[in-house]
Amino acid sequence: MEDHISYILNDLGEHREKYFNAMSPPIIQTSNFVFPGVDDFRQAILDELNSHIYTKGNNPTVEILRKKISALEGTEDALMFASGTAAISMTIMSCVGQGDHVICVRHPYSWTATVLSRYLVRFGVTYDFVDGSDINAIKALIRPNTKLLFLESPNTFTFELQDIHACVALAKKHGILTAIDNSHASPIFQQPAKMGVDIVIHSVTKYINGHSDVVAGVVCSSHEIIKKMFIDEFMVLGGILSPNDASLIIRGLRTLPIRMQRVQESTETIIKALKGHKKIKRLLYPFDPDFPQYELARKQMSGCGGLFTVEFDLPDIDSLLHVIAKVKRWKIAVSWGGHEALMLPMAALYNLPGRDNPHIPWSYVRFYVGLEEPEYLLEDLLAALEA
Ligand SMILES: *Cc1c(COP(=O)(O)O)cnc(C)c1O
Repeated sequence: MEDHISYILNDLGEHREKYFNAMSPPIIQTSNFVFPGVDDFRQAILDELNSHIYTKGNNPTVEILRKKISALEGTEDALMFASGTAAISMTIMSCVGQGDHVICVRHPYSWTATVLSRYLVRFGVTYDFVDGSDINAIKALIRPNTKLLFLESPNTFTFELQDIHACVALAKKHGILTAIDNSHASPIFQQPAKMGVDIVIHSVTKYINGHSDVVAGVVCSSHEIIKKMFIDEFMVLGGILSPNDASLIIRGLRTLPIRMQRVQESTETIIKALKGHKKIKRLLYPFDPDFPQYELARKQMSGCGGLFTVEFDLPDIDSLLHVIAKVKRWKIAVSWGGHEALMLPMAALYNLPGRDNPHIPWSYVRFYVGLEEPEYLLEDLLAALEA
């Protein structure tokens, strides 16, 4: 029962007898906790991660969430952060020291790349970005000082995957830790810790919260790694999640499986209808049989979610932006994983003063399918394409 998803979502980590048998946990909106005597205080200090001393360390509302998400991923423990970015940067920091080397998949989430390329280089940490689909390329980059292999499978624009089992086997052979940004798949569709990955990270902002009203992150790992990260990074850098936000995420989490199922079914309907359209050159979706890594996606993911990218067959940026302007039911916005359909046209990031153009062509638009009826979304998109 302990690892049954309904038990995890409905009961795990909750102590109703402590709060009037309320069905939903209270928001323990406090900075500090009172001790009946010095002895209890001394006891708590010895294990701050699992005690209630100060909300910067551990808070009962946040703790419920920690327990639930780590159980969903099949890890021993988790830490909640103020953002997915904080979870990523603190994970990388926890794995390296001066002179160490990190191998990271190419084109990860943009701030993941920045932590390595602009921040940690200041402290003598070197890095390589690699085509993660090529295990020999990863192998060739391993040096004696390589401490971390950072994966993101799939990424969230072109959906490149890594063979997680193969990456884990390679890293273990060389005594290298593995971490993965698992935001795209959610804990419902992929559990990398069960494939041997040491550290699993989510931008909780996306599917896990799922309602576009909270920014948060999580790191799931073993007791040992979490405890070390708690003392060496979490307490030092202080990027914590508030109890109020934790409460919203607990509510979001209750419906995660049914939201994922809905988004999955709608996306498949929409993709079937769009494929072969005369203004579409290519459609990227890992569960589409034409996707280059389709077999791998099917092997290591049980679902693929609501992100897909369209390469439009249009003559120039202006004609693409003309189509985009006609779309009304998919909103132009960053992020994804909420209740609402979104689109992110790459063309919007072209020719910005003082900025390099992206590595992704202007003809690519990333779409996110929300909880709307698929027909409602399709009707709008097809009408815009006809105009
Ligand atoms: C959004 C996102 C992040 C960053 O999360 P924030 O909560 O916005 O800091 C990291 N990785 C991926 C894949 C994301 O989509």
